[in-house]
Amino acid sequence: MRPGIIMSLSTIGAVGVLSLAVSAQAPNASRAAELQKWGVHDTTRPMPPEVDPGPAGPPAPVPADAIVLFNGKDMSGWTTSKGAPAKWVVKDGVMEAVKGAGSIQTERAFGDCQLHVEWASPSPAVGAGQDRGNSGVFLMNTYEVQVLDSYQSKTYADGMAASLYGQFPPLVNATRKPGEWQTYDIIFRAPRFDAAGAVVSPARMTVVHNGILVHDAQELTGPTAHKARPPYKAHAEKLPIGFQDHSHPVRFRNIWIREL
Ligand code: MG
Repeated sequence: MRPGIIMSLSTIGAVGVLSLAVSAQAPNASRAAELQKWGVHDTTRPMPPEVDPGPAGPPAPVPADAIVLFNGKDMSGWTTSKGAPAKWVVKDGVMEAVKGAGSIQTERAFGDCQLHVEWASPSPAVGAGQDRGNSGVFLMNTYEVQVLDSYQSKTYADGMAASLYGQFPPLVNATRKPGEWQTYDIIFRAPRFDAAGAVVSPARMTVVHNGILVHDAQELTGPTAHKARPPYKAHAEKLPIGFQDHSHPVRFRNIWIREL
């Protein structure tokens, strides 16, 4: 929250606080209402406008208190979903998804976090729509921020790059060209459940794609899924971060996390 808002909170009454709180929720509420209009993967849902994020930079500096999830040398700290060694290829400080090797996940589990991921689509581009540079970053192995080559490439809006898959397209399309490094900075709040397994607060994601805000504390409707919007199901407070093998050689580097 901006300092100006904090100052004004101290000088206004309870009604004012309430109206401010409501207006702070407005973007989320309007997006929730918008979601009702569109079926999952609705191809008539508008694609967001393109915004050129400018050229890719060098790897982002790693904050001193971050946990580095990829050492740039091997797949230490990562396994398959069955706990076997992860068989993605590592070369020149970069890991690359290998068709058939399966999706991978961190050995460590995380809940609320700030996650930084850099990725690049295969170049030259191969395929179209969902069959073009597809992978994914899964918070708690359950909530996917889509990785896809959406540079001048059309697909259903809720499945494009930086979408919260099957639910919310990004506010804008900030995708760089195939082969160019791209960044996701994700601030994730895990859902909370009561003892009976009911949702106390939903998962929330703020996503910055190549320096551009594309989700603003967006509340998820439940786990992300293909052709479905399933309801929440109570789960552990911490779960692994997952990267998807979708048969495309998508590359990743400089992956770090800060627990919140
Ligand atoms: Mg995917």
